[in-house]
Amino acid sequence: MHIVVVDPSKVVHRVIASVLEPRGHYMSCFTDSQEALDFTDGDESVDVVVTSLEVSPLPGMELAWRVRTIARPLYVIVMSSQANAQSLAEALDSGADDYIEKPPSPQALMARMRAAERLLAAQRKLLELAERDPLSGLFNRRAFFSRLDEAIELTSSSDVLSAIMFDIDHFKLINDSQGHDVGDEVIQAVAMNAASVAGIVGRLGGEEFAIVVPGADRSTAKDLAEGLRQQFESMRYPGSDGLFGATCSFGVSEYVRGETSGELLKRADVALYVAKRSGRNRVVADVDSKADVSAHNPTVRSEARVTA
Ligand code: GH3
Ligand code: MG
Ligand code: MG
Repeated sequence: MHIVVVDPSKVVHRVIASVLEPRGHYMSCFTDSQEALDFTDGDESVDVVVTSLEVSPLPGMELAWRVRTIARPLYVIVMSSQANAQSLAEALDSGADDYIEKPPSPQALMARMRAAERLLAAQRKLLELAERDPLSGLFNRRAFFSRLDEAIELTSSSDVLSAIMFDIDHFKLINDSQGHDVGDEVIQAVAMNAASVAGIVGRLGGEEFAIVVPGADRSTAKDLAEGLRQQFESMRYPGSDGLFGATCSFGVSEYVRGETSGELLKRADVALYVAKRSGRNRVVADVDSKADVSAHNPTVRSEARVTA
């Protein structure tokens, strides 16, 4: 595990390292509790935070509480030389998972690490069950929108972000002619390819998917979608009468400052609908997001509207 240790004394860091490192744990040590908090928040590999109560600028109790607000499983252990019932109660009330005397004995420390491993494994499993679609392994609809909302919140005025929605063409026919299990394999293959895109990838329902690409403008997202379209078109699946293929239709939209995640996806969905209506196996971008451009140049119109 990756363990952050926060204590004003480097001697304490060394004592803990001498127990944990030979057992394969990896440590990041801090004397400044604010730095430890920022590091933990920014580094997804951190599993455990062990903090003394006597740290600054954030006291250990406050650090425990702030770590608890980080939205991923983390195990927090508060460490103090003043082992008494009140410190224990305060530590646990601050959100700590456990309390240990300082300096900790090797046995006590290792027992805590085993408890941390058990709890983190259980929490991660629950999180996976809650967030992942079991067939495709992609984010389910709720988790997808929650990640998208987070990404939108992190988007500053100069950042771009785009959404791609896509849907397997004539999937009902595939199910009808090849069977539901083969249909499932097509969904899995499509999902696996989509998952390779660096973005937030979700299965929104049946044979409908969405990708959000932070940093991509509409044109980049459109190129990405076109790459996926060609990839899907070239894939072959074993069916009842030999190999068969499947295609997907795509709708693309670029985030407009101030809109909600639902509005962004709605515009991609409208573009996807146009792609379906105009023959399927194609990418259509919604350029209504560039309303200011069309306002200045009446010949520049939404591709969605032109082809509708
Ligand atoms: P279009 O090109 O317009 O998208 O046509 P379509 O046939 O793909 O769309 P439609 O919405 O009519 O049918 C989607 C089908 O997807 C119907 C449903 O039974 C099937 N489906 C939904 N979820 C699953 C699944 O998990 N596995 C399989 N095999 N089929 C599914
Ligand atoms: Mg479909
Ligand atoms: Mg559909």
